[in-house]
Amino acid sequence: MDMKEKKKIAILGATGSIGTQALQVIEEHSDLYEAYVLTANNRVELLAEQARRFLPEAVVIANKDKYGYLRDALADLPIKVYAGADALCQIVQEKPVDMVLTAMVGFAGLQPTISAIKAGKAIALANKETLVVAGELVNRLANDYHADIVPVDSEHSAIFQCLAGEVSPIEKIILTASGGPFRTFSREQLAQVTKAQALHHPNWSMGAKITIDSASMMNKGFEVIEAKWLFGVEPEQIQVVVHPQSIVHSAVQFADGAVKAQLGVPDMRVPIQYAFSYPLRLKSSFERLDLFKSSTLTFEEPDTKRFRNLALAYEALHKGGNMPCIVNAANEVVNRAFLEDRIGFLQMSDVIADTMQKATFIACPTYEDYLQTDAEARRIAAGHLPDTV
Ligand code: NDP
Repeated sequence: MDMKEKKKIAILGATGSIGTQALQVIEEHSDLYEAYVLTANNRVELLAEQARRFLPEAVVIANKDKYGYLRDALADLPIKVYAGADALCQIVQEKPVDMVLTAMVGFAGLQPTISAIKAGKAIALANKETLVVAGELVNRLANDYHADIVPVDSEHSAIFQCLAGEVSPIEKIILTASGGPFRTFSREQLAQVTKAQALHHPNWSMGAKITIDSASMMNKGFEVIEAKWLFGVEPEQIQVVVHPQSIVHSAVQFADGAVKAQLGVPDMRVPIQYAFSYPLRLKSSFERLDLFKSSTLTFEEPDTKRFRNLALAYEALHKGGNMPCIVNAANEVVNRAFLEDRIGFLQMSDVIADTMQKATFIACPTYEDYLQTDAEARRIAAGHLPDTV
């Protein structure tokens, strides 16, 4: 790339928590980065506003029903307007796109990520579900098509930063977890928690789905799987450590016993910016860590009895094949059901465990197998939902 040319970034999920923070990074470094494509699912007004401000080459609204609104809202601007999931897959392959930020949520992120990889695009990966569902396939394709994957998830960015300059293998990854809003709750208390309580994360402001996953610790389970595929380690080499202050974003231990950690104030713009600028670091105006203000850093063992999802995710990782895909699909169903007040907090793990028992296991799944598994597991999980709580 010409040094003077801006990096052209396609943001899948521009209207979400990661997407809007990515746009702040692009705005702060508008001499280096350009929002070349912006996409959303439903929030068409916000997408139109963003397009007016950032003037991308193209916008895509996944929900086709919203196409007319978007086209009319941008009629006076030279911006191409597309709709539908297929358009997402096509737009990421456009020649000028240098990097694709996968900031859409859930299984829906898999197909466009694979399309982008097949076009050899660099991936700034926020959509962890892609690696949870199909880590082996995604890694193989990234290798075949020479597509770099840079993590955006704060823990994985921390690990990635700890590995910069290292040539020796990892002995152990220390994956930190805030423990979420229910860290100290008993099982009896967990049985009673509400959606409003679960949506109130102590340290991070994120989209609804990942906030619920954080409260249930499924997010940490997914991050263990994500770490396996990103860093090529075995599950036994990944230790989850509850660290309620979220200052140590994760750490890596090496063969000599040395441990490198990455620290900072919780702010997703840091890992987003690093994914854009890697291997460089850019100046930022983000809040600096003051160790005198964060002088107490504590670490606890996770409790997989109270937070069963973490154990289920490890089980899926050990079993391999399409089992993580099954867990992801069941989790998407129960996560939504919890947000719709259709299921209790602890019942979420019960439905996931039942779905793991009943869905068809495939040891070496193809892409088509993943699509079928996702559909089958969603059907099974939905069949296990109570009508009302
Ligand atoms: P949000 O819910 O805030 O945003 C999701 C974005 O994806 C929105 O732009 C949404 O569009 C779009 N979207 C949702 N469903 C679809 C679909 N079916 N097709 C196309 N677009 C869709 O999520 P977050 O930003 O919190 O998370 C995004 C991803 O990043 C997730 O995979 C999450 O696990 C991961 N992540 C998030 C972190 C965070 O701090 N938020 C931290 C680490 C990882 P619309 O607005 O129109 O609904």
